[in-house]
Amino acid sequence: MKKIPVVAAFGVSLLIALPCVSYADEGAHWTYEGHAGAKHWGDLEKEYATCKLGRLQSPIDIETSKIKAADSEPIKLAYNGASAQVSNTGHSIQVDPEDGGSITVDGVEYKLVQFHFHTPSEEKINGKPHAMVAHLVHRSADGKLAVIAVLFDLGKENRTLQPVFANLPAKAGDKRPLDGKINAGEIIPENHASYMFEGSLTTPPCSEEVHWIVMKTPMTISSRQLDAFKKLYPMNARPTQALNGRTVQTGR
Ligand SMILES: [Zn+2]
Repeated sequence: MKKIPVVAAFGVSLLIALPCVSYADEGAHWTYEGHAGAKHWGDLEKEYATCKLGRLQSPIDIETSKIKAADSEPIKLAYNGASAQVSNTGHSIQVDPEDGGSITVDGVEYKLVQFHFHTPSEEKINGKPHAMVAHLVHRSADGKLAVIAVLFDLGKENRTLQPVFANLPAKAGDKRPLDGKINAGEIIPENHASYMFEGSLTTPPCSEEVHWIVMKTPMTISSRQLDAFKKLYPMNARPTQALNGRTVQTGR
């Protein structure tokens, strides 16, 4: 398959038939806008039906006046510095650490699998997105997923992420090893107060049974870092989805 620069996947070129530029995942080509955009994911192929039929879809708009206080156990973070690969998936920039550690939520251990970024943040707080979000994806031994979302505002340069953002793989399908090691724990704010709810993957196939933990305290990235990402992905956020009776609880 011919490699196509990511920029070609945006704009009017979408109207021309393009070979699939999705590398990280199997299945039909999808985008955020246009004829294969978020509104149409559920119709692109059978395996994506949950994107339109699911009742626990993510992301959501978190209305802070409607949150339930919960007496859940504090989450335990056990991350460590790890070598990692940085890849351009055709939908985002993704970092895959080798044995980057794990988290424990309600007595279940989930190992860190990868983290990636969306701009603006997919999660909204009282109707407003942040500049960016990192999704840290973890999987338990029996295949359940827990995702920690870290919101970013513009501000000081994020030093932990600088080795990633200083040299983003420019083309869909590109991969490179990260210089040095990265500790995912340093991406997460020290205060672990969070919003917790049940949801889904925010990309096709939109599979449900994902435990979401959205950190309340935003971190910062510099405008230079955000601009470097936006050159590749100006907008890669799914719109917020209906709550369908779900409640958001506080976590710590
Ligand atoms: Zn994500």
